[in-house]
Amino acid sequence: MNYIILTVIVFLLQEILADCYKCTIFGSEFILNKDFNLYCLPNSICSEACSGVIIPSTEACPRSDSICSTYFHSESSGSISILGISPLNICYWFLDLRKRTKSSTIFDAETTGHMYFKINSYEDENSPRIVHEYDITKESKSEFNITGKYFEILVFSMAISGDIKVKVLWNQKSSGSYEESKNIIIISASGAAFLIFLMCIIACLIMTIRKKRESSRVSQQIYEFVPDDCSFISHMDTNMPSKLFCNKTLIDPCCICFEKFYLGCFVRELPCNHLFHTHCIDEWIYMKKNYSSCPLCMKNIFDFTSQLDNSINNERALD
Ligand SMILES: [Zn+2]
Ligand SMILES: [Zn+2]
Repeated sequence: MNYIILTVIVFLLQEILADCYKCTIFGSEFILNKDFNLYCLPNSICSEACSGVIIPSTEACPRSDSICSTYFHSESSGSISILGISPLNICYWFLDLRKRTKSSTIFDAETTGHMYFKINSYEDENSPRIVHEYDITKESKSEFNITGKYFEILVFSMAISGDIKVKVLWNQKSSGSYEESKNIIIISASGAAFLIFLMCIIACLIMTIRKKRESSRVSQQIYEFVPDDCSFISHMDTNMPSKLFCNKTLIDPCCICFEKFYLGCFVRELPCNHLFHTHCIDEWIYMKKNYSSCPLCMKNIFDFTSQLDNSINNERALD
């Protein structure tokens, strides 16, 4: 009983599978029903029993021989419009894009029905094929960025009834291409870097001009005030003469005016070793005649200098 059932099942299966054809195009297996009325897809149950056949170009797409064959295209951008692919039929063609300058190509695929879209891309004859497969349905417009020099393109109509229109475009100059966006990024980055560099130079120039102006302003301020009694100035000039500032390492400002010491301005160093602009300390001493102390350490300048005078006199006496 079991044997009879098994025989019937095998017979039925053979009947179904005998109607399928397996075709291999660009390494992809397609299972087609011999009457083109059975919806068969790659790796379907037919694959075991169907005999392998390569569908000739005319049979693959009988509507238009010129485009539905292993047709050769070498333009870096172009398009193919197929006016009608009958259900479960295949169109395929070949692109040789060695001459173009960009490494990747943008493919656009549009269809009025449902299609299986496959692109094999490779760098040269011996390099492995990179397979890109897409399932595109009606009214969808899809964009694919694919690298390679050679492209094998295959369109398989998955419509059960009615012809579908297919348009495939390729272009290396699409605004969305990776190479182009990379170039835009590089150009904008270098532009920004140049702008920053220019701004730095301008800032440096402004700072230098300001420093020079301030320095000349400070030197012009020397003895702007005119004291009515100059005796203390002559005393100070004797004991702590005004000199040109030339200490490049000193960064502390004058603590009376809080201005920096610029090279070439006049300074006076008090016996306590504290340094001031000459005009600043002179004005300070003049204003505080009765209490002539260093603004920083509060030591009496004249006491100090008289002590210094005394010690010098003592040394001389000892000699
Ligand atoms: Zn000062
Ligand atoms: Zn001092």
